[in-house]
Amino acid sequence: MSFDKFCLFLKKISEMEKDFSLRELNTFGFDVKARYFQELKTLDDVQELIRNHEFISCRDATLSRLNGNTSHILILSGGSNILFPDEFYDGFVVYPNLKGIEILEENAETVMIRGYCGEVWKDFVDYTVSLNLYGLENLADIPGKVGAAPVQNIGAYGAEVKDTVYQVHTFDLTTGKIRIFNNNECEFSYRNSIFKKYKTLMIFAVDFILKKHGELKLDYGNIRNYLITNNITNPTLKDVAATVKAIRAEKLPEVGVVGSVGSFFQNAIVTMDKYLEIKELYPDVPSYPVEISPLPAVEKSHKSIKIPSGWLIDRAGWKGYRENHVGVWDKQALVLVHYGGGKPSEILDLMKKIQDSVYKKFGIEINPEVNIIFSL
Ligand SMILES: Cc1cc2nc3c(=O)[nH]c(=O)nc-3n(C[C@H](O)[C@H](O)[C@H](O)COP(=O)(O)OP(=O)(O)OC[C@H]3O[C@@H](n4cnc5c(N)ncnc54)[C@H](O)[C@@H]3O)c2cc1C
Repeated sequence: MSFDKFCLFLKKISEMEKDFSLRELNTFGFDVKARYFQELKTLDDVQELIRNHEFISCRDATLSRLNGNTSHILILSGGSNILFPDEFYDGFVVYPNLKGIEILEENAETVMIRGYCGEVWKDFVDYTVSLNLYGLENLADIPGKVGAAPVQNIGAYGAEVKDTVYQVHTFDLTTGKIRIFNNNECEFSYRNSIFKKYKTLMIFAVDFILKKHGELKLDYGNIRNYLITNNITNPTLKDVAATVKAIRAEKLPEVGVVGSVGSFFQNAIVTMDKYLEIKELYPDVPSYPVEISPLPAVEKSHKSIKIPSGWLIDRAGWKGYRENHVGVWDKQALVLVHYGGGKPSEILDLMKKIQDSVYKKFGIEINPEVNIIFSL
């Protein structure tokens, strides 16, 4: 490294937030610190960061010399799907926080609407519902930001964000290039997308196509029952969004009150044979068909089946379990919670115990949905 580059490195490092507390930026509420932290509020901020790509390389090289390890970049938004296993993240956290919502195009049937990455997802959904636009109502009240929604193809109550995404605008933080991904190129599947693979692609805006006249999805979870119980016979879009919110509030811990990341595990996708084996032992096992098999080894003639991991965990006896500062939410076994004052390692220990116990009982491996972020 030349002397000039080293000076640039020192200057930039001194301007950056160091040992930055992420307590407010992870909904588990763990007191994790990041070695470096930078908020990006505008496109200029992003471009400035990219112009200083060289400095990032310098920094990485220096850190690896000083510490014997290599730091890397983490893009963090609302922190509602992140678990830092250690209390110190020896890396560089980029916090994209560009704001804005724009209506881009409109015709008799649809509206194309852009949300910038820093917009709060639930406010964005509320806004689209207030405009009577169909498509996001079943995804109401999911925590986090707009920029993160495509990353794991957020889903709830029979809807997935992939069904409304038109295109995703990204900056590659390592090359400085802008790339726009159309829906196909996002490679969406169950809680997955191409953005999980390429971790330095920063999503700065998402364009959605929403419908002016749509069909309501009422057949997943308790939506229909809730509407009937509340004497809503001819539900509107707003009724559905309100129902989803009410059901979620009953079942899930409140963000900021009890630490969690919502569903800690993905639902289990199993072969038809495995499902039938379990159904014989437990006739009440809930199941849903999976449209496209995410299991490469499954033959085409064998459909794959989704079994809610919450049911598996519940049947393995974990619902409501508590161990020191962490536990399993008593209203939804898929949710691991942090009651405060604990360490991330307590959640990891609990995760392993639950995985082992579900495997022992059902022969099914359940995988985390949460992104576990190790310092490299
Ligand atoms: C109580 C609760 C309920 C939940 N319910 C649901 C649910 O019903 N359905 C569901 O799908 N999820 C649910 N979640 C999980 C979470 O809300 C979503 O995954 C959400 O999209 C995460 O958004 P975030 O802004 O917090 O992202 P973060 O947690 O900050 O990041 C998540 C991932 O996305 C990446 N990322 C974030 N922003 C960007 C960006 N701008 N560009 C590129 N990559 C980025 C991160 O690097 C990380 O890998 C729930 C969480 C909680 C706490």
